[in-house]
Amino acid sequence: MTDIRIKGLRARAVNVPLEYPVKTAVGTVATSPLVLIDLYTDADVVGTAYVFTYTPLALKPVQRMLEELAPVIEGQPLAPFHIDQLFQSKFRLIGNTGIVKIATAGIDMAIWDAKAKAAKLPLVELLGGVAKPLPSYDSHSMDGVELATQRAKRAAEQGYSAIKTKIGYATLAEDLEVVRSIRNAVGDDVQIMVDFNQSQTVPEAIRRGRALEQEGVAWIEEPTVQYDYKGHARVREALNVPIQMGENWFGPEEMSLALSVGACDLAMVDLMKIGGVTGWLRASALADDARTPLSSHIFQEFSAHVLAVSPTCHWLERMDMAGPVLEPLLKFKDGNAHFGDVPGAGIVWREKEVERYKV
Ligand SMILES: [Mg+2]
Repeated sequence: MTDIRIKGLRARAVNVPLEYPVKTAVGTVATSPLVLIDLYTDADVVGTAYVFTYTPLALKPVQRMLEELAPVIEGQPLAPFHIDQLFQSKFRLIGNTGIVKIATAGIDMAIWDAKAKAAKLPLVELLGGVAKPLPSYDSHSMDGVELATQRAKRAAEQGYSAIKTKIGYATLAEDLEVVRSIRNAVGDDVQIMVDFNQSQTVPEAIRRGRALEQEGVAWIEEPTVQYDYKGHARVREALNVPIQMGENWFGPEEMSLALSVGACDLAMVDLMKIGGVTGWLRASALADDARTPLSSHIFQEFSAHVLAVSPTCHWLERMDMAGPVLEPLLKFKDGNAHFGDVPGAGIVWREKEVERYKV
């Protein structure tokens, strides 16, 4: 297996529709801009993965970055830690972050996927774990009282024991109205997480947080700007409710900084921003060391595999950003994710749909 070499890659940009636009207090993601990666090898396997660019404006630059990296990895062994070292040295000066990190993380995921396929194992088994049903929460948007309640009710009926809604409305009264309406609809047995998407100042986050802790929310996510780790720590100290953050950490180094100042009780890592599977493995060691429960952020297909081998595994976020272009191999039933029946991470393109949404 070690003598498999990388032959090249293909990067295709698509912009796929979402069942619901992802509305947040700081902006809306109306469609899902993705770059789909096929990593070719000199064996009989192709690694597949996708990256999410948040805005269609970044689609072409990310696709181009990936194409520029193809000759860099061509002829290299199918060895993710080795390739990670190569990228670390190549991008030390510009900084392995932003679009560079998105592209290198996508390649890392595709390499791990190809390795698992070459071993004829689901990724979770290549990593030394077993595929097990993973507790998942249904992740919603800033939908307004009516839709937020309707979505929460439906999720509870489908068996989810936790849901998340985005808040940070113009007033605290509106935040409370949404949370109370959801609570009324789902009862006391379903956990409700709330996500401010960085929208509050520290004093306002504390003011709203004091009211929200009376509602029994399971966590408050990104109460203030994500890079303000000390601000998060101040909110955390003032409140009696767990503070969640991490989806914006570019690399385990940023996670380490956040944990070192006590920014959060809970960590939720974005597989792409953290640096792919290789970055996740480092992040899960940090979470283990800090005894911090670790959840995932989007990328539900790959995240299931890496969460299953994370010592402090907490929740898988169910938020489907790539559904239209993927075969539905990941299944959600009774609030759990079921995965791992096929070699690799379970990313199989629906080619007709890829063609349809190609940019
Ligand atoms: Mg969030």
